Amino acid sequence: MVGTGNYVSAVVFKPVSNRVLVFDACLDFMSKTSEHPFLKGITDKLDRPVRDLRISVTDRCNFRCTYCMPAEMFGERYEFLPRPDILTFEEIERLARLFAQAGVSKLRITGGEPLVRANLPELVGKLSKIDGIDDIALTTNGYLLAKNAQALKDAGLNRLTISLDSIDEDIFKKMSGQPQGPANTLEGIQVATELGFSPIKINVVVQRSVNDHTLVDTARYFKGTGAIVRFIEFMDVGTKNSWELSQVVTSKEVIEIISEEFALEPVDPNYSGEVASRYRYVDGEGEIGVISSVSEPFCGNCTRARLSTDGKLVTCLFASGGTDFKTAMRDGAADDEIAGMIARVWTGRDDRYSELRSKGPEFQAGTAGDKVEMYYIGG
Ligand code: SF4
Repeated sequence: MVGTGNYVSAVVFKPVSNRVLVFDACLDFMSKTSEHPFLKGITDKLDRPVRDLRISVTDRCNFRCTYCMPAEMFGERYEFLPRPDILTFEEIERLARLFAQAGVSKLRITGGEPLVRANLPELVGKLSKIDGIDDIALTTNGYLLAKNAQALKDAGLNRLTISLDSIDEDIFKKMSGQPQGPANTLEGIQVATELGFSPIKINVVVQRSVNDHTLVDTARYFKGTGAIVRFIEFMDVGTKNSWELSQVVTSKEVIEIISEEFALEPVDPNYSGEVASRYRYVDGEGEIGVISSVSEPFCGNCTRARLSTDGKLVTCLFASGGTDFKTAMRDGAADDEIAGMIARVWTGRDDRYSELRSKGPEFQAGTAGDKVEMYYIGG
């Protein structure tokens, strides 16, 4: 057991400019311990701790959403990651356990579509047993949810977020890039509600002249059901969605549109740093949320790390790449070494893409073309 005083040099590396050197010098010492003190209380260059880990369990999806995995680019010939390149459940569990030691208490399982990965409840079961993890959420398009919801619940899944861009049959088909309407997704939501998942969140990516005329109908469908619809500003994630600022319907506009039909009033956040701004229906029939990723960036509160399907740690939704943990693990790295890698990546993080984007077109032009795709790291 190593006394706290011996960790001083590890803690010092945050504010000093040569922290990587200091850190490397301590790694040898670290490898002799069974704990990972470098992970305790780590913060990035902007003083943000790591609290949430988003884990992409597959790069495949049964939908072809136009803003994520458009069908014309992801056809039958598209080569997804080969099976051996995908992290095993045991590798994911190991990394999640180390992230928990760094301060992560929330895990979100994403994809691609996570429910196309076989035996997903088995992974949830492993993650739910990790010390320090008190919340496991799943983001899904809901298509396969009805038959998986019970097993996920039994395994320890706490929360569900369902992507559903429109309740309108035709708009749903158009945006999801496949021939089915929303019936399967709605059935999944119904089953999950009956199983006690609460509150279920419904994510709607809002695109001007695509689904903005159906926002009220979508809100109306879920009003009074306990589900919380969250309208998300269309973002320039990845390189394949032909994003333009003119396609963004701001949260302010969304609130104006919904308010024309239903009286709304703002509500305080559930916790500091909550991404969605909350509004409740004045008649008491629940609430909606708006996520202003473009018009009001929230990088200052961003405590999210992302683990890609093939084991790369990505520190921003808009990053151009990540740090490979899979190779290190498969080469036999000890937990101490992996912990050291996590600390090194996180303490070197200075991402604030959305804030910089808001500074104007020069920044956008300079960064386009080299961003990680959303299906690879989750949204
Ligand atoms: S742009 Fe990057 S740093 Fe900013 S909130 Fe999004 S993921 Fe976090």
